[in-house]
Amino acid sequence: MPEALSTAVPALEAEQILALMPDPVLVVREDDGGQEIAYANLAAREVLRVPASGAPVSAALRQPVVLEAVDEVLAGAPAREVAFESIGVQPRFWRAFIRSLGRPGELLVVLRDETDARRTERMRADFLANASHELRTPLASLAGFVETLRTHAKDDPDARDRFLGIMAEQAGRMSRLIGDLLSLSRIELNEHVPPGGVVDLAQVVSDVVDASRPLVAERGVSVEVSAPAGLPTVAGDRDQLVQVAQNLIDNAAKYSPPGQAVRITLQAAPTADAAREPTRPDAVGLSLLSPDLSDPAGYVVMRVEDRGRGIARQHLPRLSERFYRVEGQKSGGTGLGLAIVKHVVNRHRGGIFVESAEGSGAAFTVYLPVAG
Ligand code: ADP
Repeated sequence: MPEALSTAVPALEAEQILALMPDPVLVVREDDGGQEIAYANLAAREVLRVPASGAPVSAALRQPVVLEAVDEVLAGAPAREVAFESIGVQPRFWRAFIRSLGRPGELLVVLRDETDARRTERMRADFLANASHELRTPLASLAGFVETLRTHAKDDPDARDRFLGIMAEQAGRMSRLIGDLLSLSRIELNEHVPPGGVVDLAQVVSDVVDASRPLVAERGVSVEVSAPAGLPTVAGDRDQLVQVAQNLIDNAAKYSPPGQAVRITLQAAPTADAAREPTRPDAVGLSLLSPDLSDPAGYVVMRVEDRGRGIARQHLPRLSERFYRVEGQKSGGTGLGLAIVKHVVNRHRGGIFVESAEGSGAAFTVYLPVAG
């Protein structure tokens, strides 16, 4: 063992260190009898289902690319690195590092599981593709109307006014989309940092309801708020909680037919189970986010309920995905509102519960840990 290592961990032998490593590690030896696993650490035994020694290499590492790389290193190459996919119920992505041990006929194989990294990469690529597509649609429409205004509609004041109205709408849509994208990336950046402030959720709701009056009036919808006095405060970031209330209230108003009421209820609940107690026997309920805390000092619950068209059961699990919209609903929304809600509530270590019956409205319940 090198001196530094033996001083730092005198009691540990090399094999003990290898055994503790989370990545699968194999020592391969070649002799007249063929290529054999001379040593497999615990992770390798579990992942490849091989004994600690003695299994033929071709039984442990079945992928031809890996076996070829092993052959090359045994033939004198110093090192090889290959990526492969293991086949199974849930395919996983691996990278194999194959290194000569400096003695003829022996080499080391280390496997690294890159499944999570691949998945994240894939999600990023999908997200970029979706975001570009969402921006391109209004942009194409703007470009089309500019062209029409320059040519056919040049001398038609009525058409010009109408087209300018549509263009303003499309520009507004792009600006909302960019605003939501920026919000989402800002929220994600500090999602692992718990919020530092103390927030009065009833005050937040009251401010958001005031700010939403124009939209609510335009939709012909009314808003009723019920909040008991003396509700505890929550540990939170006020601006982000404003976004949560705003998105839920805007949605409820947006998807309600005129003449209907949006009901907002605030209350305290001792546990997460109590906070997401179903309130509507006719509806399907689903947790979109569950807090991972063992119950804190209790929760403050905010429920936003509407009597709109509701959401069919099959859409519920996907509602908080970015850009997910229920087909056939032309709302002018960005499809990012509930994704923002989910990331903020996750940062606050709270939960989200949705209940809906198609045709008779939806209720979104957000519950957040009480401050302190
Ligand atoms: P959007 O900006 O499109 O409203 P959201 O992320 O806020 O995006 O919501 C995602 C989708 O969930 C919406 O497009 C809509 O189809 C559905 N939805 C959200 N809230 C409601 C509601 N209160 N009633 C009916 N459908 C809703």
